[in-house]
Amino acid sequence: MISENDVVEWVYGQVSAEGTEDQNMGSLEKTIDRVTREVRRQALERLTQEAAAREVLGCPICGAMLKVVDHRRRRVVDSSFGPIGFVRSYGLCPSCQAHYFPADVALGLQERAPMSPRLQEICAVMTLRAPAGQAEEDVRRLTGIRIAASTLHREARRQGERALSLRQKQEEMTEKTEGVALLAAKAPDLPQHSTLVIEIDAWNIRERDHWGQTEARREAHEDLERWHWVYTATVFRLDQRATKESGRPVIADRGYVATRQGLDSFRRQLHAEALQRGLLQAETVLVLGDGAVWIWRLAADTFKNAKQRLDLYHVKEHLWTLAGELHGSGSPEAKAWVRPYLRWLDQRKDGALDVIQSLEDLQRTLKTFDDQQRTALAREVAYLTGHKDRMDYKTAKSLGQPGGSGAIESTCSQYQRRFKLTGQFWSLPGDEALLALATVHRNRRWHLLFPHDNDNP
Ligand SMILES: [Zn+2]
Repeated sequence: MISENDVVEWVYGQVSAEGTEDQNMGSLEKTIDRVTREVRRQALERLTQEAAAREVLGCPICGAMLKVVDHRRRRVVDSSFGPIGFVRSYGLCPSCQAHYFPADVALGLQERAPMSPRLQEICAVMTLRAPAGQAEEDVRRLTGIRIAASTLHREARRQGERALSLRQKQEEMTEKTEGVALLAAKAPDLPQHSTLVIEIDAWNIRERDHWGQTEARREAHEDLERWHWVYTATVFRLDQRATKESGRPVIADRGYVATRQGLDSFRRQLHAEALQRGLLQAETVLVLGDGAVWIWRLAADTFKNAKQRLDLYHVKEHLWTLAGELHGSGSPEAKAWVRPYLRWLDQRKDGALDVIQSLEDLQRTLKTFDDQQRTALAREVAYLTGHKDRMDYKTAKSLGQPGGSGAIESTCSQYQRRFKLTGQFWSLPGDEALLALATVHRNRRWHLLFPHDNDNP
């Protein structure tokens, strides 16, 4: 048995042999990393082979013993220390009528995965942070591992597909009573009188449709890119909101949903997320959004007993726009006109009703306004009247509830930082896979894709 000291001596000898006179500490770290890599690779290879040999030849689906086809089928995967080769058994399950490699399942290697789970994770994380070209450079700089940008991209996409299939399973669960109960059972114990806040919004993403047919389509003068809606939501409990020392509000733990798969899928995804965050246990459920009709339809449909609230800043923006149309944009008259209304919304119990009443009075005494101004006024009265039960901002304040949907706006901009880079195109399936991957990461369910990530709560 050699001692740790022997290993240190060996490493020291290897590094010294390369000459260390002009090396700073950073170079020394890199050299040690490099000269020990082959040793680590061989150790991993041996341990992988042992783990593969230990695995009982049972069907990973039904547990039945497999009929052996080959005992020494070789597989090579890349690891963070270099390529790892090992042999393992595989066989046919008599009841499932399919071939399985039980060792691969135990090792966490999906079928056709070219990389070890650790390397898969590196590709996934780095591609979420930056485009593949940049990620390639970052991986090499930080780990010394060379992975081509195209490989990084492909691997992240594969991880995205895994995230999509997790998501698909959850969506399906929301369609059945047992599934709903199972999702709800994942929610932590909620404190008494909890309020669950759900904020909803949408943003758009530029996508190139028709990959691979660019030239033909261009010659036919067809549009090659389009904007697609990404429906986004965040879910959190009011008691998880805290204030930083700087005074900035932070939410300790929150759920995310982001998809461009359409509203039906979005609704199911959001339902699944809300269930896992305590939808059925919360005393109060609050839905916040802007004036978009689809938001309120979805809320009425999926969160029937929820309190609905229109984002205060959107209401104020509407009033500012109207002030501009009636009295000139940015004019002192416009400011003087709008100010009491803004104050009523904040400070009066039925402030919104008072604003509507006052605007209706104004409609009756319109003499000084032209047609365009009359139309603007009618438009805003209709907007406010349509949302009159969603504007209880004074009550919101007294209950410590948000009046604005700031949390979802910051969520959208976080997603956009990655998905809306200038000049960046995404293919339809490609960006959905990456959105799903980013969302698993944000929701702190990374361990569902990478079980070795067990030091994260
Ligand atoms: Zn089976």
